[in-house]
Amino acid sequence: MPKAQETILEINLGALEHNYHYLRSKLKPNTKFLAVVKAFAYGSDAENIALKLQELGVDYFAVAYVREGVALRDAGITKPILVLHPQTINFDTLIERYLEPSIYSPKILNEFLATAKKHGQKNYPVHLKFNTGLNRLGFWENDVEFIAEKLNGRNEIKITSIFSHLAASEDLNEKNFTQKQIETFEKIAQEVDKKLGYAPFRHLLNTSGIINYTNAQYDMVRSGIGLYGYGNEAKVDAELRPVASLKTIISQIHKIEPGETVGYNRAYTSKGYHVTATLPLGHADGIGRQYGNEKTHVSVNGKEAPIIGNVCMDMIMIDITNIDCEEGDEVLIFGPELSATKFAETADTISYEILTGISQRIKRTLIE
Ligand SMILES: *Cc1c(COP(=O)(O)O)cnc(C)c1O
Repeated sequence: MPKAQETILEINLGALEHNYHYLRSKLKPNTKFLAVVKAFAYGSDAENIALKLQELGVDYFAVAYVREGVALRDAGITKPILVLHPQTINFDTLIERYLEPSIYSPKILNEFLATAKKHGQKNYPVHLKFNTGLNRLGFWENDVEFIAEKLNGRNEIKITSIFSHLAASEDLNEKNFTQKQIETFEKIAQEVDKKLGYAPFRHLLNTSGIINYTNAQYDMVRSGIGLYGYGNEAKVDAELRPVASLKTIISQIHKIEPGETVGYNRAYTSKGYHVTATLPLGHADGIGRQYGNEKTHVSVNGKEAPIIGNVCMDMIMIDITNIDCEEGDEVLIFGPELSATKFAETADTISYEILTGISQRIKRTLIE
């Protein structure tokens, strides 16, 4: 692999392929696979990730917002795209680009029906989202009656699938709660089939659901974080390969004397003769200030170097005393050898947040 010469987010499509096959291996052959590529494919590169996954044969894609779906269509994605959290102002665009909305409330249902009618649509594919305990988005169990009555005698839309989302699929201490969510979903699904008079396909599981509750895979699963190489537990992480590596270089090296300070507000004071390196990335790139002040380290030529002082907008400083390195050398922020989960944990957060926060100004580089 060529060494980085500026800050780059390296995207390993071979790792993506590996993760896809691993997750698929947990499923029955007929279970459909939806790849969640919202938020720039978890901060990586939505277009190139989705094109690769389309080539690998995924059945469905999901994004959060309509704009994200439009970008995928522009990039040549022809598979169905579920929009998890569409806003009514974008319903015209959604229909024009043949994106499939998640319909999660009576208000959204009414407004989508009106838009579908205005566009002269028949059997437009939509997906009903039910709340089974996350209490975030979704119809309630007792909305099924209302939905069935609303759709009775109309054909602008067709309920393609029904789904729900687990609140704690990665937490086995919450097994009872999750089982209850599964049972509630099952009950809702049966009622939907009965009241609608046809059976939309069903989906419930995210990545940790695939790992911990395969019995509830229904007709499709929705995986995001697993595709990008993180499994919310060490055992699963060991089977997956991180897709994104954040790399940078040493811009400048300084030798500082005891008592000298480094960075804004003089947050770091040197206790001895130290050597520091300045790196070209900062909080505007997604490495927040919470990673500063020696809470977190990066890797320089295989050695740990703590981030010292306050993280700046476009720069961070690290301590490289006793590390054999020079200006221009590559520095690894996270990647296969330094997991994003571990990096995120130093600031009390999760892989999802550090990955999705990597700014669009950082260059994405694809490798196989
Ligand atoms: C983001 C999201 C997913 C993906 O979850 P992972 O834990 O990343 O696999 C699945 N379903 C819904 C509704 C989501 O919002």
